[in-house]
Amino acid sequence: MKFLPALLLAFCFAASSAALADPPARVESLLRNYPLTKIAAHTYVILGLLGEPSPQNQGFMNNPGFVITKDSVVVIDPGSNVQTGRMLLKQIRSMTNLPVSHVFDTHVHGDHWMGNQAFRDAFPKAQFIGHAEMIKKLKAGEAENWLSLMNNLTQGYSKETQAVIPAVAATDGEVFKIGGMSFRIHAPENAHSHSDIMIEAVEESVVFTGDNVLNQRIGRMDDATFKGNIAACDVIAKVNAKHYVPGHGPAGDVGIVKNFRQYLATLYDETKKLHEAGKADYEMKPQIVAKLKPYQSWNGFDQQVGKQISLAMLEIESDF
Ligand SMILES: [Zn+2]
Repeated sequence: MKFLPALLLAFCFAASSAALADPPARVESLLRNYPLTKIAAHTYVILGLLGEPSPQNQGFMNNPGFVITKDSVVVIDPGSNVQTGRMLLKQIRSMTNLPVSHVFDTHVHGDHWMGNQAFRDAFPKAQFIGHAEMIKKLKAGEAENWLSLMNNLTQGYSKETQAVIPAVAATDGEVFKIGGMSFRIHAPENAHSHSDIMIEAVEESVVFTGDNVLNQRIGRMDDATFKGNIAACDVIAKVNAKHYVPGHGPAGDVGIVKNFRQYLATLYDETKKLHEAGKADYEMKPQIVAKLKPYQSWNGFDQQVGKQISLAMLEIESDF
């Protein structure tokens, strides 16, 4: 309820957002523009930066995308704060004047869904769609946690951002027909966040994988299972789409899915082998890092790899 006054203000001044704050603060709070990348005939992505959220990147580090259908625009993962959502909307407006009718959020992590607010403010009738577990977790307190975390990481840049939690739960295999196009949901269990949907824009032959696939960036596996994430890569590789948009990093063909699967499988299998040989996780690290040579230059590798070996150990032990 504490968001209500701000919500009312947002509705009252939707036509004149400059009235929400004094002009100088408003100008400073604008997110700089990032270029659109055209992925397919009607599909566009803004490729985010590769680092962690910070004051320098204004929290922008995911890959927001959109598909222009015959009647409306479908948005996927509108980013980590209201400013990212507004920047995305501005970029959409450079391509079309159609309204945004649907916003798909790939999972519970805040860098993917906290831009929802910009679309709720501009299109009050738009549907927000996510996994049932995502909705449950956000309502149970994770929304507040993410708002606070992002605000801290950006040193206050995200302070205006409010949680707009999806109202529509999508299930595995469900197909949303929107403006003459089909959006198929792939929702393998126990993958990156236990709340994941991947969205296949069928006619465009594009899959938005969320963080089940990463490219040039190693992210946290704290909410994931290795086996579930590997299975998610297998499921989505089988679709054999022409284009895959990962949660972070450059888009590509099915090769980027197989490459990330290889990272996960190498780390998991090597950990298992060395664990069975009686090694402790700190003893394993140099050997496993050597096997992961192609990924050593990926953003976040040095920070994450040790922790991921420990997580893989826990997962292996829980299997026995
Ligand atoms: Zn994530």
